[in-house]
Amino acid sequence: MNGIVVVGAGQAGFQLGASLREGVYGGPVTLVGEEPGLPYGRPPLSKAYMLGKTDAAGLALRPEAYFAEHRLTVRATERAVAIDRAARRLHLASGEALPYDHLVLATGARNRPLPVPGADLPGVHQLRTLAEAEALKAALAEARSVAVVGAGFIGLEFAAVCAQTGLPVTVIEGLERPLARSVSPGMAGLIEASHRRAGTRFLFGSAVSALVGDDRVRAVALSDGREVEADLVLVGIGVLPNHDLAASAGLRIENGIAADAMLATEDPAISAVGDCASFPSPHAEGARVRIESVQNAVDGARCVAARLTGRPAAFTAVPWFWSDQGPLKLQIAGLCQPHDRAVRRGDPAAGGVSVFCYRGERLAGVESLNRPADHMIARRLIQAGRSPTPDEAADPGFDLKALALG
Ligand code: FAD
Repeated sequence: MNGIVVVGAGQAGFQLGASLREGVYGGPVTLVGEEPGLPYGRPPLSKAYMLGKTDAAGLALRPEAYFAEHRLTVRATERAVAIDRAARRLHLASGEALPYDHLVLATGARNRPLPVPGADLPGVHQLRTLAEAEALKAALAEARSVAVVGAGFIGLEFAAVCAQTGLPVTVIEGLERPLARSVSPGMAGLIEASHRRAGTRFLFGSAVSALVGDDRVRAVALSDGREVEADLVLVGIGVLPNHDLAASAGLRIENGIAADAMLATEDPAISAVGDCASFPSPHAEGARVRIESVQNAVDGARCVAARLTGRPAAFTAVPWFWSDQGPLKLQIAGLCQPHDRAVRRGDPAAGGVSVFCYRGERLAGVESLNRPADHMIARRLIQAGRSPTPDEAADPGFDLKALALG
């Protein structure tokens, strides 16, 4: 028995190994990961870790002893470079080849590069790995002014850290609002207002033309001729799925590694899960989605492990996500985008608000800002396929919990 080999020892790769053992898989399980060390969680990198509230040891998904006890072999600092599908062997950069019965691709995503002059100057950072977080944290301690390129989740979380540490920070965004692809316009407005109150400056509709400096970055140049002074720049303009390994093995690529509703690729011996994979989702009316979240990685890995241990089922878990930005806890249940109607429940001035997003009559998703109870109810509603009418959702007297519990 060659066992199960997983490429990528991140959130999904780790969960796959853990869930295989919970599903009493007895064969060898090997996680091949190009990063050093044991699997760790990325969410604190832009939050608690950056604020010094946790250290690298605190990020570990499990202590070292867990891997020995569960016979999960982690091959750290090993890069997989090719898949020989006919021979069922995974080739590593070190020259070794690992035979497999089943291969799981959990290769995640990498930072999208900023294609402008000066993007490689010292003082310009991106944030995906612990190594990048260490470098960014050290730079933060020395910085006098910060620019963030991109008003996505990572950029806003880092901007909140800067504001909390008293550093002037400017967020530069090409579109007209923050989180334009991720949240409703109303929610984006509330989030922007909160960041502004904390002192963050925003420049919307602004294209970056260059990062300027001699031996290190001094400013961000915009295409309208303006310059934003900064001795630390974080580029957070999204990620690209790591699908090269799959593509060169002839697997289909469609916004990531194309998987089916059970996260299997067209090769019956290969599955794909996490940030690198796209799949048809019932929460998008069957459309193919690629989701970058801890929940998607964890629940997707559980789905693959269940199939590999004799309990095949489609991946139907309700997508959910969170982002902590200073005093804001944003939680999203379901897939809100696109939606054609949105109604508010709660009052931001009174502490929290949720935005219920509809596609037609169906509740597609709920964005909650500092309203965790709404988030939990929304997950149940979506799981059960129950939609309050928009009027019911907006009515504070309507008992959503009773509807969710049926
Ligand atoms: P990853 O965890 O990225 O793991 C993939 C691994 O595969 C990497 O270690 C990579 O180096 C390795 N790899 C790739 N190619 C190869 C190869 N050829 N050979 C060997 N190894 C390879 N999500 C949330 O839900 N909430 C949050 O608040 C949140 N905050 C985040 C904050 C930050 C700073 C970042 C970067 C992400 C955050 N996320 C958050 C997203 C979440 O962390 C990811 O969705 C999740 O890690 C995806 O898991 P994954 O296993 O698919 O990919």
